[in-house]
Amino acid sequence: MTKKNKVLTTETQLVHDERHAEGAIAPPIYQSSLFAFRDYQAMVDRYQGDAHQAVYSRIDNPTNNVLHDKIATLERGGEAVAFASGMAAISNTILSIVDPGDRIVCVKHVYPDTYRFLRGFCARFNVVTDFVDGTDPAEIEARLPGAKLLYLESPNSWMMQEQNLEAAASLAKKHGVTTIADNSWASPINQRPLDLGIDLVVHSASKYISGHSDTVAGVVVGSVEMVGQINRNVRPYLGASLSAGDAARLIRGLRTLPLRLRRHHDSGLQIARRLAEHADVMQVCHPGLHKKDFSHLTGYGGLFSFEMGEAVDIPKFCDALEIFRLGVSWGGYESLIVPAGVAHNQAGQHNAAVDFRVPPRMIRLFTGLEDPNDLWNDLASAFKAAGRNRSD
Ligand SMILES: *Cc1c(COP(=O)(O)O)cnc(C)c1O
Repeated sequence: MTKKNKVLTTETQLVHDERHAEGAIAPPIYQSSLFAFRDYQAMVDRYQGDAHQAVYSRIDNPTNNVLHDKIATLERGGEAVAFASGMAAISNTILSIVDPGDRIVCVKHVYPDTYRFLRGFCARFNVVTDFVDGTDPAEIEARLPGAKLLYLESPNSWMMQEQNLEAAASLAKKHGVTTIADNSWASPINQRPLDLGIDLVVHSASKYISGHSDTVAGVVVGSVEMVGQINRNVRPYLGASLSAGDAARLIRGLRTLPLRLRRHHDSGLQIARRLAEHADVMQVCHPGLHKKDFSHLTGYGGLFSFEMGEAVDIPKFCDALEIFRLGVSWGGYESLIVPAGVAHNQAGQHNAAVDFRVPPRMIRLFTGLEDPNDLWNDLASAFKAAGRNRSD
């Protein structure tokens, strides 16, 4: 970003690019595995570190660098780097911090594959993880002495458990423990963990940052030093780099991120409130309807869950929906549902070892960009079609 851009708002910066070659208004996609040198001396300069030319796309690609700058600006970090998936961002980041014999403290109910990575994969390399109740700062602090890393994700799981990221960051600092927060749910629009004292922020960019359900990707943001450690010590060897074409799709997604998030926020709240008033809904888990402390969130997005009453046949309900599709993931333009009765792992049953159960009649719902009245009508007619013993 040029100095001039520092006075621009986030929304403007996301649609404002540096000038590209040939006057191209969109960043060119450098679909090239390698970058040749102008002459012998240019190659010498690059290898001695005196010049910045990209060499090979596993390490460095000019399209990806445009994305990295935008993500760093958005999360207010010193540096960002993209990966071929959210899990690649998460695993590379964790592996840049821990060594065999280290201990990680992680909040319960994190994303299922993050949980499996810590509990299975990391344990094989003698890196153990203590899972703690993230809603209880005293429980977090009790495990911090001697730990290397505190891993957070707020809010998390279908039940929307919150952590006070600011309090957790300051406890971790006191004990010399590095912090990572998965900020996929909130997006950089609604929560900025780096501003709250967190060291590194990871995102599944497959969700809101892409926003179009056509890309699997991940990003990490933090200080120049900590992201540099990932870039030097882990990323080249695990090799899960994002392709330039996918980087360009994420740059496109970023342009509308603030607009999309406003829509997801409005529609999500509207549908959540209407569900909460419905006779066949037992509970709605949406941070906007909770009494909990979500003061660090400036908006909510479209992902939440509700518990279906016994009077509704869940398979029938799912099959009666015409707009909502049955599918995992979220953050795109389309509305989706996932019933806990089918997707146990998605719902968090993987965390049985840490005392966690999602009620079997929970349904996760993602409100997309469709007209919220159409979405409500779709749900309302599915309730009618699937109701047992009902005359209405
Ligand atoms: C989807 C998701 C991930 C994993 O990201 P991928 O892009 O699927 O690898 C990590 N954390 C959260 C909170 C997610 O929703």
